[in-house]
Amino acid sequence: MENIIIVYHYVRDKTNFKAFTTSQFREQVSYLSKNYRIIGLSELIEQKPRDKTCVITFDDGIKDGFTNALPILEEHNAKATFFIPGGILTEKKVLNAQKRHLLLAKLGTEKFVEEFNSSAESIFRVREESKKQGYQFDDALTSNLKYMLDNMDNPETVLTKIFGKYFNEEEEFEKIYLNKQEMKKMQGRNMEFGCHGYNHIWLGKLYFKDMKSDIEKGLAVFQENFPDQIKTISYPFGSYSPLTVRLAKELGFKAGLTIEKRINENTENMLELGRFDCVDILKKYSN
Ligand SMILES: [Zn+2]
Repeated sequence: MENIIIVYHYVRDKTNFKAFTTSQFREQVSYLSKNYRIIGLSELIEQKPRDKTCVITFDDGIKDGFTNALPILEEHNAKATFFIPGGILTEKKVLNAQKRHLLLAKLGTEKFVEEFNSSAESIFRVREESKKQGYQFDDALTSNLKYMLDNMDNPETVLTKIFGKYFNEEEEFEKIYLNKQEMKKMQGRNMEFGCHGYNHIWLGKLYFKDMKSDIEKGLAVFQENFPDQIKTISYPFGSYSPLTVRLAKELGFKAGLTIEKRINENTENMLELGRFDCVDILKKYSN
């Protein structure tokens, strides 16, 4: 097979978020539909097609998928798969990832770092250091802030404290995530859904028992809400280990999506599918 998978998060105009604009998204879907056959993830799993195919995916259950992306997908008769963190279906809590995005958009990096440094234990404070690896889209300071948030103990505590100072969590929750009615409508309009863990954490960094607990919790919520969907998972932050793959197989997942930038050519490795970021495709094909 010759398949590419692309991941999107935000598709919105007039925002401080790092987002695709609706016109960028429209152009990209149009480009993709001319050069690939855009298929659902279920078709990739069930048919293992041999022609050039593309699967469009959205992570984190962001509302943009319904309000902005769905109409454009439908213009092109294109399917997409939406990976939902179980937590947003059961609790009205904004996930750490979105707390970070909202705070960065509102405060900018410098102010966010200032707030962060006044709350975090001294060992975790962000300093002016060289850019950390693994944050390809960020400047040095932002990469250092994200590195600390990704590696400190309990980032939740610090993030919740700063977030509470600038936002009303329940209001932001309603604004940023898809709700159940929207997901239902999307299913009725041929969109597919997958599991994105429960708490949206780095699965590959956890002890096995904690990884298992998060994935099983996410899977239980997924099956309750999407009983008709094939079991698929996108690993939050692309973080997984050989044990994650074993577990995903044992739990019956038919596909696992990473963020490793590669074309999917063999059908053996369905639990470690490569996936490009929409920005990579933009760079590759814009000129
Ligand atoms: Zn995610």
